Amino acid sequence: MHYVQAKGILSATNGMNLYRGCTHGCIYCDSRSKCYQMAHDFEDIEVKENALDLLEAALRRKRKRCMIGTGAMSDPYMPLEKRLEYTRRALLLIEQYGFGIALQTKSDLVLRDLEILKRINGKTKAVVQITLTTADEELCRIIEPNVCTTKRRFEVLKTLHDEGIPTVVWLCPILPYLNDTEDNIKRLLEMCVEAKVRGILCFGMGLTLREGNREFFYEQLDRHFPMLKQCYIRNYGNQYVVNSPHDAELMRLFHRTCEANGILHNNDEIFDYLHRFEEKNAPQQLTLWDMN
Ligand code: SF4
Repeated sequence: MHYVQAKGILSATNGMNLYRGCTHGCIYCDSRSKCYQMAHDFEDIEVKENALDLLEAALRRKRKRCMIGTGAMSDPYMPLEKRLEYTRRALLLIEQYGFGIALQTKSDLVLRDLEILKRINGKTKAVVQITLTTADEELCRIIEPNVCTTKRRFEVLKTLHDEGIPTVVWLCPILPYLNDTEDNIKRLLEMCVEAKVRGILCFGMGLTLREGNREFFYEQLDRHFPMLKQCYIRNYGNQYVVNSPHDAELMRLFHRTCEANGILHNNDEIFDYLHRFEEKNAPQQLTLWDMN
């Protein structure tokens, strides 16, 4: 881990990454891609030392409150967050300045900050997004080795719902020949239904591979699933989008199950929900009618 001084913290769409790099070790991670021009090892986490000062200044400057996003490029609840508490302190600032939060993680450490999330959600909106890829615990330990497994993430989703925090699941990536089975998708969807998630994001039953993440992914395939790399190379070459041969039927199953259970499954609608700032208990503006 190393510290840097960052120039800014919020992107144009109000996303933030307090850390850069990630130690969760997912074998398919897109954030390893060369296009992100990381100048350090992916596991050597860059901590933006002045991130909280920058965030406070940015929140104070904003004329309109909005949703703040985090977790797109690096999990905000990596093990080092236990000690550094940057995410926790950022949530406290978001609460203090009356903004909303939409965070994305795979870690049960998010429950440490449940009370802050509840307070934010009481005033505006706090949404937790959790990724689920496989219902097979053993496979999960291989493809997402350094973070809690699906079983625990399912418990976290249920706890969040019971505590009034809305949740969204990222059902991706689905890796051809590994977790692209009907049984797996069915079991994951059953978990989502039971945990009463608000929406499920799915971009097709597949994954993306490009320079940087492809090499790492293939190394891990060689390590854990001999001969599978050759199969990928034969069937997909250097394609960026790598879809399962079962994409069409699995997508039908996905849409049908969500529809039957009242779960949002249109990606645009879900992103709209994640970005929409909502204020609860806002004083109603008096109308002439009220005054009479
Ligand atoms: S948790 Fe996200 S950022 Fe971290 S390794 Fe996994 S996919 Fe990459």
